[in-house]
Parts: sequence; structure tokens; C-alpha cells
Amino acid sequence: QDIRPSAHTAAPVPLTLPGQRPSRRPLISYVLPVYNEQDGITAFHTELTAALAQRPELDYELVYVNDGSADGSLGILKDLAKNDERVRVVDFARNFGHQIAITAGLDIAEGDAVIVMDTDLQDPPRVSLELVDAWREGAEIVHARRRTRQDSAFKRATASLYYRVLRSCAEVDIPLDTGDFRLIDRRVADELRKYRERSRFVRGIIASMGFTQTEVKFDRDERFAGETKYPLKKMAKLAIDGMTSFSTVPLKMITRLGFAVLALSLLGILYALGMKFFRPDITVSGWTMLMCVVLFLGGTQMLSLGVLGTYIGRIYSEAQGRPLYLVREVTGGRPQDERGDT
Ligand code: UDP
Ligand code: MG
Repeated sequence: QDIRPSAHTAAPVPLTLPGQRPSRRPLISYVLPVYNEQDGITAFHTELTAALAQRPELDYELVYVNDGSADGSLGILKDLAKNDERVRVVDFARNFGHQIAITAGLDIAEGDAVIVMDTDLQDPPRVSLELVDAWREGAEIVHARRRTRQDSAFKRATASLYYRVLRSCAEVDIPLDTGDFRLIDRRVADELRKYRERSRFVRGIIASMGFTQTEVKFDRDERFAGETKYPLKKMAKLAIDGMTSFSTVPLKMITRLGFAVLALSLLGILYALGMKFFRPDITVSGWTMLMCVVLFLGGTQMLSLGVLGTYIGRIYSEAQGRPLYLVREVTGGRPQDERGDT
């Protein structure tokens, strides 16, 4: 008997899976937020493309997001795009902030892997290739973790403290000493688009997604030109966004405080009543009533705030509208093309 598959049933071996790009070279997308970087952006672009030229086995696209720069950054970026079709420029109508700029870039990046990095040369372009290597070894999320950094002592100290506090409060494992410099696999990038919360802390969202995560350590350089675009006010907003997006500890503290205050106030009331009945000689008229009312109101109010807070916390997490779960893969069952439905 001829057991060779007949020409009719043997399916041609597809070169690529459906949905995969036909090119053999993996496409790496870079998402590059730019805010008033006119003095450094050319140097950054040159260094990045030089690093990528060392790796001809990689195809790449550069997505610059101009976050409402008030200087000449946009003109420089447009020139870069004119001379190289691998460069795309998204121009925001105003300054929407770093986290939103990253989000816009992630929304349009098409690569098999997407790298987010700063455009001030603090995140060295050659390190992005180390992220790619870790990805090719199987990681789906690669965080670039700062071994050392060249920022002001104040920034280093506050950031270091912040990440440690955040880690102890947050419900997810947010890696220490990492900014937004990281690589994510296409699958992760697709899932990330489902997160549409407004006050966003992208590094926390990515850390909370699961998948196979690893880290690459690097030494963070000094800013090539200009000054930090994160003044204290923006940094504080980011810090609060990070804390409130991933932790309900502040809310829980109100509830705990409520219980403690109520318990103490009950003791206080007992004391006031005791004084009234056992030492009426030294109890001023009206004092007992006053104490009871003040303590009772204080205690119940604090507890009620905690209860309200708990419900607000639930409304907040509904409003964030995060996906309920993320699936990496569904295995088994009949193949798609054999299913009966038409
Ligand atoms: N950035 C941005 N929008 C902003 C602030 C910053 O797109 O409102 C960009 C900026 O151009 C840089 C990156 O975000 O590429 C990080 O900013 P910066 O280097 O000033 O922050 P730092 O490294 O001092 O924390
Ligand atoms: Mg910087």
C-alpha cells in the first residue's frame, strides 16, 4: 500500500505562520519619545543607527514621537524621516508627557519586538542590542536595569527610595532601578494596547503582565545635551501615578486608621462615663456628653471614610478597565481550518 500522502492532501509547508511577516529578518521597532532634544537628537540617531549597522541580521524601524517640542526637534526628525524610510515621526499637537508619548509609539510600532528608550543617550543604543539578544534567547520582556547612573545625587536618592517603597506596597513585582528602557515581544505589545488607563505608569503595567521576564544590567550614561525634561513636578506626578496605579495601601491605611480611632474613642467614652458615675465631684457638667459625641463622631467618621475609600478603590479599578487576563496560547482542540462553522 502506498502510504505517501497524495498530492491532494499534502498541504504545502508554509514558509511562515499566518500573521507572521514574510521577511526572514526579525523586525525591531524602536519607540523614541522626544521632547525638546534638538541639541542631542542627531547624535542619538547617528549612534543608534551605527549600532544597528553592526547587526545586519536585524531589520528595524524607528518611531520617533515628538511630544510637543517647542524647539527645532520636529524639523530634525522630519529630515531624518525624509532620508530613511525606516524612520517614522509621530507629531503630537502639544506636550502630552513621556508616558503618553511611549504609548502612542507602542500603538503604531509593528516590529516582532519593540524597544522603548530615551533619546538623550542616557540609555546607550548598544545596550538595546543586548536586549535583543536576550529576546532571541526566549525572553518576552527584557528590562534594562541600571547598575549605575550619572544623575544628580538628589535624583538618584529619591528614585532609589521610591522604587523600594513602591515594591513593598505594590501588588505586582515592579523591578527595582528600571526606567522605561526595555524590550517587549510582539505578543506583549499587542496585549499592552488593551490597557487604556489615562494616568499611566507604563513600566508598572508591563511588569504586571506576566510573560517571561528577564533583565539586562547596564550603566546609565550622562545626558548628552540639554537638561532633564522631568522637573520635580512631573517626577512627583509619575511617582504618584505609579503608586496609585499599583497599590491600594493608602486606602487600606484609612480603613486601619478608622478601626484604631474607633477603638480608642470607645475607650475614651468608657472613661468619660466612668468619671461621670464614679467621680461626679470632679467632673464638669456637660463634659461627659461632649466627650462621648466628639469621640463617637471622630471614630465612626474615620471608619466610614475607609469604607467609602474601599468602594472608590473598586470603582477605580473598574475605570482602569484593564484586561481580566492575558493568554499566551491555547493548546489542543481541532485545528482552525477543520472546524465545522462556516
Ligand atoms: N520626554 C517626553 N515628554 C516629556 C518629558 C520627557 O517625551 O514631557 C522624553 C525625553 O525627550 C527623553 C525621555 O522622555 O527622551 C526621558 O526624559 P528625560 O531624559 O528628561 O528624563 P530623565 O532621564 O532626566 O529622567
Ligand atoms: Mg534622560
